[in-house]
Amino acid sequence: MPSLLMAHGRSRRFRRRLVLIAIAAIALVLGLASIVAINAHTYREYNGWTRHSYQVQEQLLRTGHALRSAESGLRGYLLTSDTDQLDIFFAQLPDIDASSALLVQMTIDSPQQHARALKLRSMLLTRIADMRHVMSSYHRGGADAARQSMRAQLSAQSTHPIAAHIAAMEAVEQKLLSEHEAQRLHSATLATWFTVACLLSGVFLLVSAVILVIREQRIRLRSNDELAAAYAQLAEALEESRGLADRMHRLHLLSESLQNCRSIREALHILPPSLEDMLPDTAGVVALINASRNLAEKVAEWGRLRIHSEAVFTPDDCLALRRGQPYPGTDTRVKIRCTHLKPEQAEDADVTWLCIPLLTQGETLGVLHIQHIGEMHAEEHDLAVTLGEQLGLMLGNLKLQETLRIQSIRDPLTGLFNRRYLEVSLNRELLRSRRHGRSVAVMMLDMDHFKRFNDTHGHDAGDELLQQFAAVLRDNMRAEDIACRYGGEEFVLILPEVEHASALQRAEDIRQAVAAMKVRHQGALLGTVTVSIGVAMQDTQGSEPGTLLHAADQALYRAKNAGRNRIEVAAAAETATMTKDTD
Ligand code: GH3
Ligand code: MG
Ligand code: MG
Repeated sequence: MPSLLMAHGRSRRFRRRLVLIAIAAIALVLGLASIVAINAHTYREYNGWTRHSYQVQEQLLRTGHALRSAESGLRGYLLTSDTDQLDIFFAQLPDIDASSALLVQMTIDSPQQHARALKLRSMLLTRIADMRHVMSSYHRGGADAARQSMRAQLSAQSTHPIAAHIAAMEAVEQKLLSEHEAQRLHSATLATWFTVACLLSGVFLLVSAVILVIREQRIRLRSNDELAAAYAQLAEALEESRGLADRMHRLHLLSESLQNCRSIREALHILPPSLEDMLPDTAGVVALINASRNLAEKVAEWGRLRIHSEAVFTPDDCLALRRGQPYPGTDTRVKIRCTHLKPEQAEDADVTWLCIPLLTQGETLGVLHIQHIGEMHAEEHDLAVTLGEQLGLMLGNLKLQETLRIQSIRDPLTGLFNRRYLEVSLNRELLRSRRHGRSVAVMMLDMDHFKRFNDTHGHDAGDELLQQFAAVLRDNMRAEDIACRYGGEEFVLILPEVEHASALQRAEDIRQAVAAMKVRHQGALLGTVTVSIGVAMQDTQGSEPGTLLHAADQALYRAKNAGRNRIEVAAAAETATMTKDTD
């Protein structure tokens, strides 16, 4: 912003200077034009004066010449009586008159010369009158009288006054001529100097304008470059923020997808394509630390790895897991490598790698190992770290959800399903079996004289017995069977899609296995226990969970009453009994 304001101020200064130069240039041109006009006018004026002086001089010469011709004609006539000579005399008289009159006219602008011209004219008229007098003397008294008259005139004028007057007038005109010439020269010199000064100033202004324009041009070019650089930076930042927004959006989508997962296993299934999409040109693995926290196991992988990471390694093999922060940091040119990377390929110079610990609320779940061909850009590095952080939190959430879910359906002591889960799953299994035309068997199991065992060996030993009993159940059930702790030392086993005989066989197997069980607590052998079992079948008792459980319970009750450590099967009548009881 400040640079824009500076550029604006500079531009205004530039325009102001340019306008000043333009005004000065116009003034110069006008000055130059005025000088040329004045000079031309002065030149014309002085030229007129010079021509006028020459004309006056010429007129003086012509007048003198006419006078001399007239005098010479008169003299010739007096000497030779040649009438041709007399004609010459008379021919000159009008010229002398006209010339002198013209001279008077021509010198009207100069008072002194004008006075002289008037005087010359009067002298000439007197002279003509004198000459006419000589000629009349000649006509009257002959040559002697004429000579007498001429002599008298000559003696009156020792020198020729008219010639002297003409010469004086000529000298004055010559002087005027010289003065006019000098003034003309002075004016021309002045004009020349003015012109040169104007031209030099013009050149100076032109050079200043050119320098100003070139400098402005340079500044503008530089400003343009700066503007272009700023624009490029802006575009880059915009592109980066767009990319970031896009990556954030994808991260958000991944978070959403992970939130929709019900288990870590499900999440690991969708992770590889998402990671491939979010971190293009990369490959990698996700390794999770096992429950015993002594091993990290590869659980997901994407891309084609150039450097192979071991599928199973100890947390100590990974520097990110050891340090609890991404490794290497932003400087990926590290010398010490994680030892879970296979040594023969780890030196591949083309590949940069990054391990990011998957952390959640202080617990380390595992590691996200990423490989990238070539140097990893800072944004890619940051994105990978953010992704690792998010992934850690998401997987942590899923783990927590799983734990909570397990806690809500499992009995914490035995690890078997709890009563709530039993009710839900029994209903489901009954419906499913009925759909398939098969039968479900329900076994109700109760430890014999458990209270006595508790009282004899203590509550802890009782707990241990319950856990061992649960283990026997697990050992004697199929994957589809559901074992639950019904309450205290009572258990229920649901056997979907099972025949009557095989259900009884399974019950017998369990009974025998419990009887054969060697109960141990704190290293001591605590003797043996037995179990009583009541069995109810769906095909005889119907598909109501309550009815079926009640029938099994009744059968168990009979087994207890019959002496314990035995199996009783619910008869069809027990449904009626139960119905009656319930009523
Ligand atoms: P019967 O052969 O008739 O079934 O006799 P019993 O002693 O097994 O049955 P009873 O119902 O009289 O006693 C059940 C005992 O189980 C009472 C209770 O203290 C004990 N018990 C219930 N839950 C637990 C448990 O979680 N841990 C331990 N150690 N004992 C339990
Ligand atoms: Mg009991
Ligand atoms: Mg009991």
